[in-house]
Amino acid sequence: MTRLILATRNAGKITELRAILTDAGLPHELVGTDAYPEIPDVRETGVTFAENALLKAHALARATGLPAVADDSGLCVDVLGGAPGIFSARWAGRHGDDKANLDLLLAQLSDISEDHRAAHFACAAALALPDGTERVVEGRLRGTLRFEPAGTNGFGYDPILQPDTDTRTCAELTPEEKNAISHRGKAFRALVPVVRELLG
Ligand code: IMP
Repeated sequence: MTRLILATRNAGKITELRAILTDAGLPHELVGTDAYPEIPDVRETGVTFAENALLKAHALARATGLPAVADDSGLCVDVLGGAPGIFSARWAGRHGDDKANLDLLLAQLSDISEDHRAAHFACAAALALPDGTERVVEGRLRGTLRFEPAGTNGFGYDPILQPDTDTRTCAELTPEEKNAISHRGKAFRALVPVVRELLG
């Protein structure tokens, strides 16, 4: 059985991709980077989600000698020309300060009417092999930005994005409901034929 490594220490992400591979009948064993504590973090120097996902996947494949999957994601707001985009995690200046990022974005959009508040979450998922072979796929979740946060599930910008297919925000969906429609879920599911093609 081929071992496949996912560039994350987030158990939820590993469970999500593992379930998708299993449902597709793929026999690969999926592990996270916790299994390899000596692996250094990769600087995300790319300017697109795809470039950053590929950078992380290649670094991990080189370091472990295993086929490696990595994802990169963010929120893209139409009226801001796609920002925060790759800067989503540090939009307010400090990496990972979800509340500050969300508050700043809401303040920036305070005068923008509902008609012009379209946005989407985007996710690129890359597979890289130790020999340098690479593939990248993408998934999106489209919606509208609320004026006020609602809901306590999820993370990041979930409380302000209402998917086009729902009347609730992403933070009001259960994890299962979110995975079924999410950008990451779509990108991970799009990886299935790629894993089949490259790893059999
Ligand atoms: P990462 O690529 O998964 O680290 O995500 C980068 C940033 O994008 C996160 O810190 C969040 O601000 C935002 N983001 C990505 N995916 C989601 C999501 O599903 N919900 C809310 N925010 C997200």
